[in-house]
Amino acid sequence: MRRSLAAAAFAAAIATACPAMAAPAASSERAALDKMAAAFAPTDLSVDLSGLPRSERDSLARQVQAAQLMNAIFLRQAWSGNGAMLLGLLQDGSETGRARLAGFIINQGPWGRIDHDKPFVPGAPAKPEGAGFYPNDATKDEIDHWITTLPQADADKARGFFTVVRRQPDGSLTILPYSVEYQGELQQAAALLREAAKLTQQPSLRKFLELRAAAFLSNDYYASDVAWMELDATLEPTIGPYEVYEDKWFNYKAAYEAYITVRDEAESNKLARFSGQLQDIEDHLPIDPALRNPRLGALAPIAVVNEVYDAGDAAHGVQTAAYNLPNDERVTKEKGSKRVMLKNVQHAKFDQVLLPIAKVALARTDQAKVQFDPFFTHILMHELMHGLGPHSIQLDGKDTTVRQALKEASSAFEEAKADISGLWALQYLVDKGVIDKAMEQTMYDTYLASSFRTLRFGIGEAHGKGMAMQLNWLLDHGGVKVNRDGTYAVVPDKIRPAVTSLVTEIMTIQAHGDYAAAKGMLDKLGVLRPEAQHVIDKLAKVPTDIRPRFVTAEKLVKEQSGS
Ligand code: ZN
Repeated sequence: MRRSLAAAAFAAAIATACPAMAAPAASSERAALDKMAAAFAPTDLSVDLSGLPRSERDSLARQVQAAQLMNAIFLRQAWSGNGAMLLGLLQDGSETGRARLAGFIINQGPWGRIDHDKPFVPGAPAKPEGAGFYPNDATKDEIDHWITTLPQADADKARGFFTVVRRQPDGSLTILPYSVEYQGELQQAAALLREAAKLTQQPSLRKFLELRAAAFLSNDYYASDVAWMELDATLEPTIGPYEVYEDKWFNYKAAYEAYITVRDEAESNKLARFSGQLQDIEDHLPIDPALRNPRLGALAPIAVVNEVYDAGDAAHGVQTAAYNLPNDERVTKEKGSKRVMLKNVQHAKFDQVLLPIAKVALARTDQAKVQFDPFFTHILMHELMHGLGPHSIQLDGKDTTVRQALKEASSAFEEAKADISGLWALQYLVDKGVIDKAMEQTMYDTYLASSFRTLRFGIGEAHGKGMAMQLNWLLDHGGVKVNRDGTYAVVPDKIRPAVTSLVTEIMTIQAHGDYAAAKGMLDKLGVLRPEAQHVIDKLAKVPTDIRPRFVTAEKLVKEQSGS
């Protein structure tokens, strides 16, 4: 039974992997492995469960156990050779062997996921672009052509989220549902989810868990995705096949992952309070009143949670801090999608990455103003502000959207809009007395430090380009300055008008669907100037991200096996 062996091996590997290699590098391989490990700061991820009754703690423990099985499935989905390679690494007790094992666990495979998928275990092939979803010896063209020869219903299945393609003994290709391919783990996971369903006292949670267990066996995920959208409970599990990025050939196949989480009541209440302010914020946006939306539509649901455990596709490389699901259009058309924000993961990133960045990027006197509360409140506001401002517009008398009109500039503009108008909206709510006045003293410096966390990943994608555009605008309008020692600083009496003018500029360009203006602004300002590059160069030793140790999950599962 290769499958259960791989699952057991993975559990053992997680339990024994050393968090960091302290010994000096003996070779360039060791140096590279140590560098990779150091990029992910080991962090205890804990969640306060004291408010949960026994029934919910017990249900949570079963959910964690079910989630652990997603690791074994995902390993095989990423590459068919992962199980055997992991077993080999587990048997290598040498220092280098242990360093390779630690790297393997960080990346869920032998490729550096923040290092362009470079292999770091001897004998590992280049990362297969079709992952483990297609036969090892198949090519993209072969699969693509084969699908065109199938009757429509089979072609749909072959392109579906929840099937793999396998080669039969006679060399022909065939389609297998996940429920068959991953039967061993899915049956165990379904049994655990059914137990979790029995234990909880919360009806919407019980319904989701039962339907998800059934989906693991039937391969039909629709009803359980709908139940997930309707969840209203103190526990918020996400478990199943979701994202399609691992299938680099076609983005057809969903990879298994899990986030086992507990709702954050305080932040959920804050969110509800802010949601009640959105129309008022829209009515006061610093743009021509004719461009404001007099009636905002319903808000997409947002859940703020704390993560107890994550697994599979959710648990490699840079840790997810927020996600939007489901992806299945049948569900999103009917029910929309839900955004889940992982507060304790954000907190860990703040401590391990943002604070060290602030020490480099800001003057000593300003560093204490970089705080978690304004950081997370701004992230919440960023999400909410995506729903405000211009979206549906008219261009040359025709109905269109900002996204269509601004084309490839639209993502960078939309992210910059959410960032800067989020900051503007926080100030608006401070002035209105909805948010404590103290935040005005910390939010600008926190935002400034945070901008370097984004810029560090480069300006190749929307977030980075949009961030560079904001920072350079604020510099050019005097709201931010570069000190003589190269650190950055907020200019207190100029930051507010600089922020406001940027909101005006971005939203007005969006409202007019002015592609030329958007492109011109991005070309001019969406660049890394030497002063910013200088700061980024000094961040080399600051970790890229965190490596969570799930202390609450470990305790929960131990309690269960002990009782
Ligand atoms: Zn965003």
